[in-house]
Amino acid sequence: MRATILYGAGDVRVETVPDAAIVKPTDAVIRILRACICGSDLWPYKEMPAGGAVRPMGHEAIGVVEDVGREVRKVKRGDVVIMPFAYSDGSCDFCHEGLPTSCVHGGFFGVGGEAGGAQAEALRVPLADGTLYVLPVGEDDARMAALLTLSDVMGTGHHAARGARVARGMKAAVVGDGAVGLCGVIAARRLGAEQIIVLGRHADRIALAKAFGATDIVSERGAAAIERVRELTGGFGVHAVLECVGSDQAMRTAMGVVRPGGAVGRVGVPHYEAIPEALPAFYRNVTVSGGPAPVRAYVDELLPDVLAGRIEPGRVFDRVIGLEQVPDGYRAMDARRSIKVMIAS
Ligand SMILES: [Zn+2]
Repeated sequence: MRATILYGAGDVRVETVPDAAIVKPTDAVIRILRACICGSDLWPYKEMPAGGAVRPMGHEAIGVVEDVGREVRKVKRGDVVIMPFAYSDGSCDFCHEGLPTSCVHGGFFGVGGEAGGAQAEALRVPLADGTLYVLPVGEDDARMAALLTLSDVMGTGHHAARGARVARGMKAAVVGDGAVGLCGVIAARRLGAEQIIVLGRHADRIALAKAFGATDIVSERGAAAIERVRELTGGFGVHAVLECVGSDQAMRTAMGVVRPGGAVGRVGVPHYEAIPEALPAFYRNVTVSGGPAPVRAYVDELLPDVLAGRIEPGRVFDRVIGLEQVPDGYRAMDARRSIKVMIAS
């Protein structure tokens, strides 16, 4: 079968690899219907040293179950499923507490560990019963793009909003205008935020942010951005900040725009050692929350809105390619020529 392999910074290839197959009795194999390239894939695409272990890429997919191991009970051949970016057993303490990303038997797709990558024709899924979410749709459903976002970006935007404790009537800010930030706008609005300020500067992304419910756009950076957000919020800043980038600069901005007693929900993988502005944040009683989104646990809540068309996170995909064009997709996202690339089989 064909699959995407990263060899080092800037060197991503689609190659012929051994077919995905059942290894353990709790596995399933899915044929990938839709996958996509994530902003987080761009970090290794930019930074991974060449010459070491290669990495199978991709952690977001909708698939059709092709085969199941003999201990798989809930998932069956022919099911159309969401593959969340983490696999989980669905039965440990953390899975029961709604945190499948901390599953004691779990792990992540597309990082080169036990599981492979989803930017491929097919994939072996460990712990299939706990991991896969069976959808009530067929293979050719028109809402496929929106459903695909439930494997990562929509759930991750929702997690940022939950971490930021967005509630009805609040003022919120979203740091980052990538696909997660844009889904964060959807999530903040869905949870009732009254004012949603997006910090971003790319025209296409800003247009989509407004369509999703952003009320204000701040295109300044650094201290000027903080100043502008404070101006827009009566001088105090926002109750809730969704930090969707992960850089030191983005977190610094998040800590600068949050008001006393407010919260920052961070979902961008941190590329900083220590949380910036810790001392002023302490004196202002700011909560910092977040981490990898337990997207599997959020599907029950978000799926009805997707199926009914009340939210349209599938609009973050502005380019659709075939598997063989994946290297072009990485280049397009890296150069910001595309918000998010979908790979259709
Ligand atoms: Zn578990």
